[in-house]
Amino acid sequence: AAATSAQNTHSDIIIPAKIVWQTDDTGNKVPVSGEFGDVYFSHADGLAESRYVFLAHNQLPERLAELAPKQCFTIAELGLGTGLNLLATWQLWRQLRATHPHLATARLHFISTEKFPIARADLTQILALWGERAPELAALIEQFLAAYPPLIAGCHRLRFFEDNLTVDIWLGDAATSLSQLALDTSLAAPPSIDAWYLDGFAPACNSTLWADQIFAQMQRLSRPHTTAATYSCAGVVKRGLQASGFIIKKVKGFGRKREMLTAIMTDPDYSEDIESEHNSHNSDISHSIVIGAGVSGLLTAWTLANHGIHVTLLDKLAPLAGASGNPRALLAPKMTPIHHVEEHLHSIGYLYSSRLYRQLNNKAAQQHTAPVLEPTGALDLLMKANIGVAQIADYPDEMATTLSLKQAQDISGLKEQDLSENLYLPQSGLVNPQALKNVILAHPLIQFQQLDVNDISETAKEVFVKGSHQDKQTLTLSADTVVICAAYESHQLDQRIFDCRKIRGQLSWFTPSAEQLKSLPTIPLKYSGYCTGFTAKPGDSELNDVVEGAAHFLLGASFIRNDTNTDIRQDEHQMSRDKLVSAIPEMQSIIPTDTALWQGRAGIRTQTPDYHPIVGQLVDSQRIWVVSAMGAKGYALAPIGAEALADMMLGSFAPLSAAMLSRLSPNRTRLQTPLT
Ligand code: SAM
Repeated sequence: AAATSAQNTHSDIIIPAKIVWQTDDTGNKVPVSGEFGDVYFSHADGLAESRYVFLAHNQLPERLAELAPKQCFTIAELGLGTGLNLLATWQLWRQLRATHPHLATARLHFISTEKFPIARADLTQILALWGERAPELAALIEQFLAAYPPLIAGCHRLRFFEDNLTVDIWLGDAATSLSQLALDTSLAAPPSIDAWYLDGFAPACNSTLWADQIFAQMQRLSRPHTTAATYSCAGVVKRGLQASGFIIKKVKGFGRKREMLTAIMTDPDYSEDIESEHNSHNSDISHSIVIGAGVSGLLTAWTLANHGIHVTLLDKLAPLAGASGNPRALLAPKMTPIHHVEEHLHSIGYLYSSRLYRQLNNKAAQQHTAPVLEPTGALDLLMKANIGVAQIADYPDEMATTLSLKQAQDISGLKEQDLSENLYLPQSGLVNPQALKNVILAHPLIQFQQLDVNDISETAKEVFVKGSHQDKQTLTLSADTVVICAAYESHQLDQRIFDCRKIRGQLSWFTPSAEQLKSLPTIPLKYSGYCTGFTAKPGDSELNDVVEGAAHFLLGASFIRNDTNTDIRQDEHQMSRDKLVSAIPEMQSIIPTDTALWQGRAGIRTQTPDYHPIVGQLVDSQRIWVVSAMGAKGYALAPIGAEALADMMLGSFAPLSAAMLSRLSPNRTRLQTPLT
């Protein structure tokens, strides 16, 4: 829908590429950009050219092979296009990892920018060419297409865990996207780009990727030894690179092409010692303590462990004993008009979570445990949304769309409801917290320990966490860093963390009869509350009062401020029932009136006055970090929050803009205003 809406005049709206197919001299079909009139890859042999120009002339085979354990190598590309350069790089990285065991913990971070991304259907057709011509890419193409994001502005992070590969696709104008990459120069080793692929069509066809702002960003994000490569030897490219601190060199071009350019950034004052200190700094972190085993703590532990860090995950109670331990959580974004989308953590966080949980489903299947995400989709009846059907039309259908009345009735099972206006979320689904916990705790680098933490202190070299066991014995653990993920109790652990709002929420569920089951909604619904059916899976009864294998129907949730009591209350069951029945009157005769037989779970949600979570390092601290205050959206926000945190801790580029990171910072000044 994004390209068709008449109101789309805002520059943040992503317009998919217009692909034109041409036939080359040898009769092969090649994709050409309708916007720029140039080819995406060389007619002769695009893959060989990509390997020659970008991989070989950034010396990637040698440089990647020499990475130290846990070292991260960062590539930035101008123009993702068909992803061919990415696939070629990924394949090289796989090959090197297979033959160089010391690369087991090294990481590759590939950052690409794209203003006119190729729609999934076109991309599938284009990459099918390479699947045939280069069978060694076929498996990677499949994974890439499965992870390819809906085309909305902002950074889409794709994690390929088996390969220690992170791909960030920044959709939007390249100069703007590069300017959003955060460079925290207060860090001992701020991130930098190691190699640039300048692949923005010929400068004569497209000046925007060879503009002064681009070269200024390259200078900002590079450091001595950073290299760049491009097929273009145009004067504007040579001058731009030289003016931004690169020494350029013309070398023989690919195939019949006469020449191409390579470049390296130099600084006479920069020594090999500084280089090796830079490389070693981030591998100093080998053990981290994460306090709090709710969704934020679990995802933080998972993300750090996937960076090769040993994690001790602590909680005074069992994992998921707090607000994150509901039988199911509905993964759904808080939608806004699309021109806010880049500024809005919810959409990007939701899409990342949805991708991650689907990947974790594969892990769960390998472990023969229940799936982490049941991909049900969800239907929002637009009773409490800040978006209407006209604005939903601006989003790609893959992410959000409006169903016809008939489709909405069929998918929901509702017969009498006015469903003419609705928001359908195809990527939404039900998270099974217990299944997520099982997958995460099976990670060999994560160890859970029950400990009631009462003191955190740090020295220049390490951090100490003191607490008491169930048997009241005191224990002190040490680590390189600690991450506090203790929701509203975070403030007690360190007074520098804002004392957040505490909001009690009770979820209610009952076991419907076979007759009721026939008339209950058949998809998760959002109104002023939400409701969904679910079938309890093995392991579910560890956390909650459910009958494994049986169908249940769940309603959520109450919202009681400044109440930290977690008892189960009949009146809140009733409130949730009333909310559902007043939104969907046909449920009045279906939902049992006697709530005395219902089950429930109450948890305390933690929220800041500006509604943003807290993610970052504490002021005046080298080793204490926070991921907290996710409100009722932990399952949508914690995964991307944990990614950003791990990047900041390890000196890599985060998948969120610098502006967003400062909005999430535990030290943001607007948090210092008193609670209302
Ligand atoms: N690297 C790609 C590959 O492996 O298929 C080919 C890239 S193609 C030659 C150049 C790309 O730059 C196009 O996809 C185009 O849409 C994109 N582009 C052009 N101007 C841009 C801009 N200002 N910001 C971001 N991307 C841009």
